[in-house]
Amino acid sequence: MQQWFDQLADDIIDGGAATVDQARAILEVDDDLTFALVSAAGRIRRHFHGREVKVNYLVNLKSGKCPEDCFYCSQRLGSTADILRYTWLSNDEAMRAAEAGISAGARRVCLVASGKGPSNRDVDRVGQLIGALKEEHPDVEVCACLGILKDGQAEALSHAGADAYNHNLNTAESHYDSICTTHEYEDRRRTVQHAREHGLSACSGLIAGMGETHEQLVEVAFSLLEIGADSVPVNFLMPFDGTPLSGHDELTPLECLRILAMVRFVTPRADVRVAGGREQHLRSLQPLGLEICNSLFLGDYLTSEGQEGQADLDMIRDCGFTVWGSGDATAAATLPPTHPRTRGAGTPAPANA
Ligand code: SF4
Repeated sequence: MQQWFDQLADDIIDGGAATVDQARAILEVDDDLTFALVSAAGRIRRHFHGREVKVNYLVNLKSGKCPEDCFYCSQRLGSTADILRYTWLSNDEAMRAAEAGISAGARRVCLVASGKGPSNRDVDRVGQLIGALKEEHPDVEVCACLGILKDGQAEALSHAGADAYNHNLNTAESHYDSICTTHEYEDRRRTVQHAREHGLSACSGLIAGMGETHEQLVEVAFSLLEIGADSVPVNFLMPFDGTPLSGHDELTPLECLRILAMVRFVTPRADVRVAGGREQHLRSLQPLGLEICNSLFLGDYLTSEGQEGQADLDMIRDCGFTVWGSGDATAAATLPPTHPRTRGAGTPAPANA
């Protein structure tokens, strides 16, 4: 039976656009119809992005010790989360980390540093790293994520060879005061705009599961459309102990799929990335996230571990997708070994139940 969102998917494929009310209705779709919604979102994904998956790899150049207080962040001021804390990696170390991701198949490297924003010296340092990466790997895109930019810094990064700049809006303007007090939503919006104006592709996304309403999720999705984000990472809150949002648990795997679908319907042409928290929140439904999204982060996140990088690549392959930039060279499936049973009935070992 055709559902209203199937017709909306057809309209979007024909050049139409979702309205705020329709986006809100996507978030209200019943659990029983959510797989059908995934299928409709998947048609949009396949129309605009084919069967490819853009694989990004994160390098945390500077971890923790941030003077800002973003409530969701394990690197924030006063965080007692048990994370790695270090100042700037040397460019040699950063290069080695980036090349680990590239050799595993990543075609975009995201160079990230904690903090409100970079000094000009920081921008110089990262610019040199970008130059070295582009020289060795000209086909690999580089995205910088250094916080709020000051005049001249986007130009410098663009001049150094950066392809993109990431700065997430994270949540709706109407919810911003509930997740950060040390900078303004407008600072974030202006940075994304500033980066775009200087030739950098805009990467900007959101974090779901921070106490926001459905209206606010729709609000941030339309803000991302409005600022022209080419790439939209959708994160699900990883509630680190030692941060103010520790213990938040307000999402289900099906709700996460509806959020991804809503973002896909609202920003059909953008690279929608199933980002941080995918393993924790989507759990066994991760492959359905890829049916909606055409991008993911390979392996680990900034301060938390993801599933094995090989498991990410296996998931892409098992879904029938290919890694963007690899042509049809995504490795062929190999059948895992068969393990004879050695536990449960007929053995003294506990059953697998
Ligand atoms: S999100 Fe960025 S600015 Fe905010 S606390 Fe974390 S590292 Fe600092």
